[in-house]
Amino acid sequence: MNKQTVAINNPFVRPDVYGALAVPVYNNVAFEFDDAAEMADAFCNRIKAPDYARVENPTVTNFEQRVKALTGAEHVTAFNSGMAAISNTLLAVCEQGKNIVSSHHLFGNTLALLTTTLRRFGVEPRLRDLTNLQAVAEAIDDKTCAVFLEVVTNPQLEVANLKAIAEIAHKKGVPVIADSTVIPFTETNLKALGVDVEVVSSTKYLSGGGTSLGGLVIDYGTFPEINKRVKYELLFNLGAYMTPQAAYMQTLGLETLDVRYQRQAGNALWLAHELSKVVKVNYVGLEDNPYHALALQQFGPTAGAMFTIDLASKEACFRFLNRLQLVHRATNLFDSRTLAIHPASTIFGNFPEEQLAEMDVRQTTIRLSIGLEDKEDILADIKQALV
Ligand SMILES: *Cc1c(COP(=O)(O)O)cnc(C)c1O
Repeated sequence: MNKQTVAINNPFVRPDVYGALAVPVYNNVAFEFDDAAEMADAFCNRIKAPDYARVENPTVTNFEQRVKALTGAEHVTAFNSGMAAISNTLLAVCEQGKNIVSSHHLFGNTLALLTTTLRRFGVEPRLRDLTNLQAVAEAIDDKTCAVFLEVVTNPQLEVANLKAIAEIAHKKGVPVIADSTVIPFTETNLKALGVDVEVVSSTKYLSGGGTSLGGLVIDYGTFPEINKRVKYELLFNLGAYMTPQAAYMQTLGLETLDVRYQRQAGNALWLAHELSKVVKVNYVGLEDNPYHALALQQFGPTAGAMFTIDLASKEACFRFLNRLQLVHRATNLFDSRTLAIHPASTIFGNFPEEQLAEMDVRQTTIRLSIGLEDKEDILADIKQALV
């Protein structure tokens, strides 16, 4: 069945007693049982029934099931933010004395999770240039518990060669965990490229209007231990499960994801083309981009709805942001509205200069997340702000 049909019509795990057509919000904590034996079976996972909303809730389960149907994953677990999905997944694979092979080119908090939080618990971050396959191979040893990467990095827009990296990692029995926030999972088949677990900030494309925080762990079942720990250890012990309200908003978001994405990615491609006539544009959808061919080969002809432009200086970036009238000065990705931000002074504002250089986050870069507005209106606003 077509993904758009599945996104809208995937059946509920159990039909609502009133036959509600849209997913009901089960805004409750406890669930009652007919007898003690059924209760014991539910608590010990011998039957599939919710018992307590920190670890299972029907609204969230329905959302997870739709994502599962759309991705063909073995297991899907929804968390209350993208960072919760990432941290829970990494905690499921790592332990003291082990290392995680990754890159300096990562979302700011993910980088800080590796270099600060997990390091404090004795997990070594091995940050390498992931476009250098030999460096990846040399970094992996018998203490490596995962290779973690972003399929298209935010904000550098570097594209990983997933198949080649997965081959290297799998030869050494190491899972590949990929953050796929920048291109929706409905557009890609990362499993076929060798990714073992996808993590997503569903705050972004799925929520759409910027309505709710959320994260997904999309597990393809190739390393069964990961799901066991995520679902039956960490969900219970860390308590970062998605809320029913967020699952409701994001189920609605999922139903319109495809149409919104086509429009936003289409807008982004057109705008990147137009703007490249007047300013330096970094977008993997442009043919002259160094990652264009690899992105095309891995993800097909779609390149997401985020790109960056480079101006003469930090001052020029601030001037540009201050002149915008339609485009909003805000951080988020794939909101319905077009958003602009100067990453070096905001998301990465507390990183020292030398670390910014390692991360390739420049003072001259503006990140744009393209929305659902009319593309000519967006272009007109960006152009007037550039002069
Ligand atoms: C936003 C983002 C995250 C974090 O997601 P939250 O939902 O804000 O916790 C992680 N990775 C990438 C690539 C992101 O853009």
